[in-house]
Amino acid sequence: MSENTPNPQKNKKSGRTIYWVYGIIIMVLVVVQLTMFNNSSSSREISYQTFSDELVPQGLVERVVIVNNDMVEVYLTPKAVQLEKYRKYATHTNFMGESTANMHFKIVSAEKFEEYLKDKKIAYKTESRGQWVNTLVSWLIFIGITVALWFLLFRRVGGGGSGQIFNIGKNKATLFDQENQVKITFADVAGLDEAKEEVQEIVEFLKNPKKFTRLGGKIPKGALLVGPPGTGKTLLAKAVAGEAQVPFFSLSGSDFVEMFVGVGAARVRDLFKTAKEKAPCIIFIDEIDAVGRARGRNQILGGNDERESTLNQLLVEMDGFGTDSGIIIMAATNRADVLDTALLRPGRFDRQIPVELPDIKGRKAIFEVHLKKIKYDPSLDVDFLAAQTPGFSGADIANICNEAALFAARKDKEIVDKQDFLDAIDRIIGGLEKKNKVISPEEKKVIAYHEAGHALVSWFKPYANPLVKVTIVPRGNALGAAWYLPEEKVIMTTEQITDELCAIMGGRASEEIIFGRVSTGALSDLERVTKRAYAMVAMYGLNKRIGNISFYDSTGQSEYAFQKPYSEKTAQIIDEEVKAIAEDAYTEAKRLIKEHIDGLHTIAKQLLEKEVIFKEDVERILGPRPKPENYTAVVS
Ligand code: ADP
Ligand code: ZN
Repeated sequence: MSENTPNPQKNKKSGRTIYWVYGIIIMVLVVVQLTMFNNSSSSREISYQTFSDELVPQGLVERVVIVNNDMVEVYLTPKAVQLEKYRKYATHTNFMGESTANMHFKIVSAEKFEEYLKDKKIAYKTESRGQWVNTLVSWLIFIGITVALWFLLFRRVGGGGSGQIFNIGKNKATLFDQENQVKITFADVAGLDEAKEEVQEIVEFLKNPKKFTRLGGKIPKGALLVGPPGTGKTLLAKAVAGEAQVPFFSLSGSDFVEMFVGVGAARVRDLFKTAKEKAPCIIFIDEIDAVGRARGRNQILGGNDERESTLNQLLVEMDGFGTDSGIIIMAATNRADVLDTALLRPGRFDRQIPVELPDIKGRKAIFEVHLKKIKYDPSLDVDFLAAQTPGFSGADIANICNEAALFAARKDKEIVDKQDFLDAIDRIIGGLEKKNKVISPEEKKVIAYHEAGHALVSWFKPYANPLVKVTIVPRGNALGAAWYLPEEKVIMTTEQITDELCAIMGGRASEEIIFGRVSTGALSDLERVTKRAYAMVAMYGLNKRIGNISFYDSTGQSEYAFQKPYSEKTAQIIDEEVKAIAEDAYTEAKRLIKEHIDGLHTIAKQLLEKEVIFKEDVERILGPRPKPENYTAVVS
């Protein structure tokens, strides 16, 4: 079914709410109309002259009423209304069944007018009217507007204009159950062997709870999947539901968060109520850190009551159901360190399952899963693809396979081949090629020397990431790029970081040596250098003068702190050291480029000719890359 088929049920409901609002507004208007302008405005206004020169002399006035000392209502005699001339002043009856005056006019002085009436022997009475009516009316208007606003507001909040005001406290989980079966199994989840093993137990429990509780054992109520985005946490949770054949409630932590206090808690209550009806089942809460952040932090900002009460409710609910109720809660986050410790206590999310970025074996397995869906060249080397994609998540790899299929389709190919995959990888790293971006020959030359500088310096810095290729084809926001193959390493040494910094500085250094000036093209290079240098000094304790101290705060507690955790003097030292690191890297890059200036010219020339050159070309020009062993650090 197409996505935008309107849901008739929904439309009907929202329509009804709108009518309610309209109805109330109209009612208010009608009441206002009737009370405020009852007599006088439904009669016609005449001038004092008409009254004193026409009506009175002809004896057509039966009686008058002086209202609030400034207006006169005139009641004509029955005879008068029958006259052709005054037919238009015929009376109507108002909503209370009284007949209204025929006409009215304004006066300035009630006293003088009364004397005049006495003189002419016209019956009259005085009335003061309207004061209470005005008060009533203003109240009615006020109430009317409030009610209307209330309706409109709640219509908004009550779930994307669905118009269900009373649904605000309902949970927003998507339910996959009998009709909506989860078809994902463990076979769809590649790699993640340890994680799969851990959740296997949950599947067993959901399928056969007696087996475990028979001996008095307790099954964990919740499992927390911790890992970077796109690594397959949702997939894993779904696979558990698919394997166990139980309903699966999926929602995100931010679904609880609303601007009204108490709504989040109501939603949590509702979620667990629905889940209990469907047990055994799995509740999956993505991005649980949206509600589960440690309480009592960031007090400066205040206004955390809502999130705290939501979290409290979640804790209460998790404590409230027994292990035999058959509800398992799985949650995902990429920041377990910011979660409230209460969430991690036994009986709640007592199991933490790490879901890491895949290694080369894992990536191969993920490629294999996603390659099943596309027609690809049978000679395709999956190991090669896995080697080309370090640091990629499962979601990235799924994306590559999809992009590759699209690239091949665009070229009317029958099967997806290696080149399509390489293009897809490039695209995912760097954005789409912009072949028709206008770049002048001078600019092109600057870019070529800049990239050649990166390539050359990284070549002679043995700890820098190995080069793959250099291009001057504009792509995404970049005008050119040197592509490296980052090694898979978890920790970096000082040598590696300083070599990297040199390679990053290579672009700007080359520009300065060749053209005698620098350009704005090195902005992102400088940003990277600065960030890394700061990290070295202030976080990793890799600087002699600062020593073994880290100002990094993994708890995120100081995110809103106004004060730095170090003194002015230390701040100054940090700045000096960062500057020194950047300058050293720049000097070293310049030294290397000057030493191999011929190589730089050759690389730049080839780049201008071919636009793309590969590692092999660079090797032909510069000779084999020096090995780390023969290398001594030059940077202090
Ligand atoms: P997360 O919840 O960790 O952010 P998802 O589970 O939503 O990530 O993953 C997004 C997509 O990436 C999945 O739908 C799947 O296509 C792909 N993917 C991620 N990890 C894997 C994996 N280990 N095996 C197969 N596909 C994966
Ligand atoms: Zn650069």
